Amino acid sequence: MRQLFCSLACTLLLTACGTLPSMTTSEDQRFEAHANAVLEEMWREFPESATRAGNYKYIDRLTVPTQARRDASVAFYERQLAALASFDAAKLNAGHRVDLTLMRNHFESSRWYLTTFRAWEWQPSNYNVGNGFGVLLNTPFSPLDDRLKLMLTRMENVPAYYAAAKASIANPTLEHTQLAIQQNKGALGVFNDDLLKKLDASALSATEKAQFKARMDAAKQAITDHLAWLAALETKLKAGPARSFRIGRALYEQKFTHDIQSGFTAEQLYRRALADKAALHDSMEKLARMLWPKYMAGQPLPADRLVMIRAVIDELSKRHTTREAFVETIRKQIPELESFVREKDLLDQDATRPLVVRETPMYMRGGGAGASISAPGPFDPTANTYYNVTPLDGMSDEDAESYLREYNDWTLQILNIHEAIPGHYTQLMHSNKSKSLIKSLFGNGSMIEGWAVFSEKVMLDAGYGNQSPEIWLLWMKWNLRSVMNTILDYEIQTMNLQRDAALTLMTREAFQQQKEATEKWRRATFTQVQLTSYFNGYAEITALRDELRAKQGKDFSVKGFNNKFLSYGSAPVKAIRELMVAGQ
Ligand code: ZN
Ligand code: ZN
Repeated sequence: MRQLFCSLACTLLLTACGTLPSMTTSEDQRFEAHANAVLEEMWREFPESATRAGNYKYIDRLTVPTQARRDASVAFYERQLAALASFDAAKLNAGHRVDLTLMRNHFESSRWYLTTFRAWEWQPSNYNVGNGFGVLLNTPFSPLDDRLKLMLTRMENVPAYYAAAKASIANPTLEHTQLAIQQNKGALGVFNDDLLKKLDASALSATEKAQFKARMDAAKQAITDHLAWLAALETKLKAGPARSFRIGRALYEQKFTHDIQSGFTAEQLYRRALADKAALHDSMEKLARMLWPKYMAGQPLPADRLVMIRAVIDELSKRHTTREAFVETIRKQIPELESFVREKDLLDQDATRPLVVRETPMYMRGGGAGASISAPGPFDPTANTYYNVTPLDGMSDEDAESYLREYNDWTLQILNIHEAIPGHYTQLMHSNKSKSLIKSLFGNGSMIEGWAVFSEKVMLDAGYGNQSPEIWLLWMKWNLRSVMNTILDYEIQTMNLQRDAALTLMTREAFQQQKEATEKWRRATFTQVQLTSYFNGYAEITALRDELRAKQGKDFSVKGFNNKFLSYGSAPVKAIRELMVAGQ
């Protein structure tokens, strides 16, 4: 779902300047002006962050990752935190209070990353020039000739960039070194013959073209040298002791606090995930037993309940659409979801901002099959929201069959709820009504993913899928994935869980395919905490809903809760909870 953030911010920054939310007090006005000034300062200070957010103003600048640069960044964060401390949260309206929290979180967390987590030291995969150049080449934000000129400027610093990278890396992990090798090979691939052809065909002057070629050669040489240096490092790390990719309990709790902004501690969330796993297994056993005669008639019931559940899931997964009809099947489901939400009165929808299902544009493909939402920014109310669905044309028969089984007749509906209605698309539509650049840029990923997961449950609870055991069983398998991600991440990073045990957990206890499990293991060795974000958001929203339902009794309404919850933008659930409980 990274695309979500990118697309959201991209459109946003191109159109946002000059539009302000309605103001209430003088403190609100002062805050608003401050926030806008800070953003401008940030883009200048961190050109790469600007590019990631879809602001291409500084894309020609490549930041060289020296110690001096890191010191300047820390000073910047401290200056911003001091400035924010001058605002009295109690005098701000609810929207600005959330913005203040988001900004403070962002600067505190950024400072923590540099001074305490120090990934710049032990994760060689932090260094890779491929992305910035890739964006320049593949994002048509201006004519190609302009972008080639920007690239010419940006290439100048590549040798200095890799020199600083080497000087920064100390005591790295083997895993992040290997990842760096793989990714820098990719970066080298950006500077290819195709690019030279584009250069030759461009209207750049002969001098510019010659300079471009010289800088491109120097860039390629710098990456090649760096790859050789990394290969030697890899050999050394394989032979000798190396830092573990596991960050340990103390750092994990801190990273969880900064990344997730949860109302739970990491350990509390882990305990909750264990309890949910046990409860899901109990419910799945009942459903599988119920479905056995219908789908597995005549076959003996396995004594092992996990084996029995898996057998029923595998049988259900054989019911799926065809590869030819894949996109069309999704397209047909969207209006059905819309009318179900309307009929059951689950939350507000906006008929003036329809969702357009389209085949994923070629420039956005690359990650294989998939589905994602591209949403316009809050200041571009007339732009379409797209549901990008990648057709299965490029897949082998075997891969297509496996993909279609994963997105069988029931799971495909759950995917559509998650991505579209009332999941990501609906959440963004509501979020865009709160018109705040800060919320869009520093939005909380766990809230966004948590809402999408929560919305699946809202639909099924309301009777979507006719309360059939089939859709509930497959929803539980789907939900178990986020539960298991949380358990895995915590146990791998803080309890030394080994690969084989992790794979068994995923395949046996979460009913995953071997391929998914091995890919997940790999991801869990590179990242920390991120895998908990789905379940955390889901667990926090569920807990908040239960809290308010208990408090409001007969006055509680599903629609009231959903609309109110979505009205604060993509803020951390913890921050939304404070405002909702206080009745704001
Ligand atoms: Zn099939
Ligand atoms: Zn999602």
